[in-house]
Amino acid sequence: MNTSAIQLPTREGVDLLSPIREFFASFWGCDLGMDLGTANTLIYMKDRGIVLNEPSVVAINERTGGDIAIGRSAKEMYGKTSHMTCCSRPMKDGVIADFDMTAMMITSMIQSVKSRWSLKRPRIVIGVPSGITSVEKRAVIDAALAAGTSEVLLVEESMAAALGAGLPVDKPVGNMIVDIGGGTTEVAIISMNGTFYSHSIRVAGDEMDEAIQRYIKREFRLDIGIFEAERVKLLIGSALPSGRERSAIVSGRDISSGMPSQLEIGDDAIREALQEPIAAIVSSVTTALEQVSPELANDIIARGIVLAGGGALLKGLDERLSRETNILFQRAHDPLSCVARGVGAIVDDMKNRRMLCSA
Ligand code: ADP
Ligand code: MG
Repeated sequence: MNTSAIQLPTREGVDLLSPIREFFASFWGCDLGMDLGTANTLIYMKDRGIVLNEPSVVAINERTGGDIAIGRSAKEMYGKTSHMTCCSRPMKDGVIADFDMTAMMITSMIQSVKSRWSLKRPRIVIGVPSGITSVEKRAVIDAALAAGTSEVLLVEESMAAALGAGLPVDKPVGNMIVDIGGGTTEVAIISMNGTFYSHSIRVAGDEMDEAIQRYIKREFRLDIGIFEAERVKLLIGSALPSGRERSAIVSGRDISSGMPSQLEIGDDAIREALQEPIAAIVSSVTTALEQVSPELANDIIARGIVLAGGGALLKGLDERLSRETNILFQRAHDPLSCVARGVGAIVDDMKNRRMLCSA
């Protein structure tokens, strides 16, 4: 017998402590679900839906160490702060780059939802990247507990994304999902409530923005901010030509004169800038496809692959991936909220789905 794990009393796979847990949970108020994304953090509240959707950005006062702003208002300050204020994306480089700032962000976002809805000590299910280390997991759990939650459960983001996309994760079929977020692209194959394959690369939306920034600097000698690069990507970024030429005005600082300057840039130039990150995403998908068993390969060919995360919204990316792999790629409905809706599906049916989480 495995003595290291606490064995819960079960009968024919039924968790007998479940009614007791549910009884106490009803005292603490509605349970919450959190998509802790590298670019955006969303909170789902049982029976209400998504109640918070903010960029994962924190601004702190360097002198006092206290937070000045979190979320959208902090993102507006990015690159425009004085030396007294530090504005950062604590999860920018894939997972948790800055522990203290991430903890501050988690605590503050949970507290704001708790106070707005007068929740006492809700349970929370948090979707985290599959590559997260045990130290990082502990930091996430501690930050959520510090915000006054009674229990913290973690679930792999890919599992949550698949649930949120409405895939039959509990059935004996191969469900393949590619979640392109800000910091990471996660490729996973899920069957019978388990992850058969999962792999994460640190190339996603942020890397696309950086590629645009580098390209404009190299080709046009214009230094632009990272959010300006993202703005251009959202406006005219694409993975394949659409037959309709588009352009956008980009603002920055001319490297030669040092003066503020603007230029008009076409979608073909942005496509060229995005070549490398898109090739990396394509290759992570083909590597995953090389790993699948013949039985799962059948399912995947027949059912196609689902794209989730904000990066899935890049124009033509679904078609580009379909062409390169000969397998149908389909964008999930509202890819930006897939993980939040997935943790929401767990929160709404905690009794049956809590086994998808780890504590
Ligand atoms: P995370 O889960 O890491 O927080 P998200 O799933 O919220 O990431 O996706 C954020 C990323 O999606 C950002 O890099 C953003 O620029 C990108 N994104 C959002 N909308 C679009 C769009 N229409 N086209 C291309 N990229 C997009
Ligand atoms: Mg995400």
